[in-house]
Amino acid sequence: MATPESRRVIEINERVVGPAPPRPRTLRPRRRSDFTHMPAPILDLAVRLSSPLMMGPPLCEELIALVSHVFTEEEASAARRLGLAAGRSAASVARAERRPRHQIEPILDRLASEKRVLLASGPEDDRRYRLLPIVPGMFENVLVGQSPDSLSGWHYRFVELFEMLYETGYSAAYSERSPAAVRYLPVGKSIEAQPVALPTDRLEDVLDRFDSFAVGNCQCRIAMQSLGRGCGKPLENCAAMGRWADVAVAAGLFRKVSKAELLDIKREAESHGLVNWMMNVRHARSQCSCSCCGCCCHAMRTVSEFSAPGMIAPPSFVPRRDPAMCDNCGKCALSCPMGAIVVELAGADRDARPSNGYRRLAERCIGCGLCVLACDRRALSMIPAPERPASYRNWFSLIAHSVPGLLSASWRLRRQ
Ligand code: SF4
Ligand code: SF4
Ligand code: SF4
Repeated sequence: MATPESRRVIEINERVVGPAPPRPRTLRPRRRSDFTHMPAPILDLAVRLSSPLMMGPPLCEELIALVSHVFTEEEASAARRLGLAAGRSAASVARAERRPRHQIEPILDRLASEKRVLLASGPEDDRRYRLLPIVPGMFENVLVGQSPDSLSGWHYRFVELFEMLYETGYSAAYSERSPAAVRYLPVGKSIEAQPVALPTDRLEDVLDRFDSFAVGNCQCRIAMQSLGRGCGKPLENCAAMGRWADVAVAAGLFRKVSKAELLDIKREAESHGLVNWMMNVRHARSQCSCSCCGCCCHAMRTVSEFSAPGMIAPPSFVPRRDPAMCDNCGKCALSCPMGAIVVELAGADRDARPSNGYRRLAERCIGCGLCVLACDRRALSMIPAPERPASYRNWFSLIAHSVPGLLSASWRLRRQ
């Protein structure tokens, strides 16, 4: 197994500023018979977590290492009885395990409330337990509510093993075939760069639909910081709206804020080069909004590191450059969180170069406008994209559109 390795999104080579070469995909699917030395409950649980409906990786060394760290053999034995959709009671798991309920229930409760690797819901006397997908799911749940100072040695190892699994590139294969689950929304100065953005495209207007707001720490940047690869950008800007906000506050994971405070936090995030997202659904009683960077966020890293677009909606607005104003300084390419711009730096013969020394990689561009803000010479402006991206009506529609892609990605991964 390779150890987690630091990567840069942007590189400067031979006077050209542009994206770093894609990270190689190193996934090596294995058979269950390759792990005969492992306890059966750990293997059973790893097989469950590898389900395509959980966007799981195929059985591989990295998955087995992560599951062995997170679950003891006894915990894995109970957890392997759970599924993703329908919750199961402690009594039902106890019957399957042929053990008394009073022994099984504390195991499931510990996994749900201390390690936070299962979901528990319902009243105390009839609680239901579910498995969480590894990402998005278990990774976020384990780290939500944590700060860099509160992480234990167990968390550090969890992050390290998760990163080794992520770096195999397995999730990029899902992202290539998934619908556009998230979309960028301008909020701060980037709105000035996109003056004709519609109300549905502006975070301010979308927030008007909710009356409850909360913020917490970004789990991806905490994880990268714990690996010694943090980018130093602000942490407390992961936001929940509506019912999710109330639940997160009641659980002590997020703190309640007003709409005005949330907008200030999001503007501050954008001023640090973070990109503000929401889930790509129009009608929802709850929403979330992340503020992400191309170096730490798992969704953005599939683009910036693995060159695998998919989960991110195509932009409503794209940058256009006026060659007469441009001096090929490269600041726009350095500021782009997606590595979507290639600039040949001034100095050599500009007119002899193809596209006059500036190229935008359309398949990577999310239309965030950060390059426009970085350009001192006002050589860039945002213009409407040729096609306006569609959003999903509700969560059901988003999930229904996801299933065929998940199955096809899983089939391809297992044939590697
Ligand atoms: S998705 Fe973005 S804001 Fe959310 S935890 Fe990851 S990097 Fe942080
Ligand atoms: S578009 Fe602006 S920031 Fe980019 S290279 Fe030209 S002058 Fe520099
Ligand atoms: S709008 Fe500019 S900064 Fe944003 S992704 Fe596109 S090229 Fe990069």
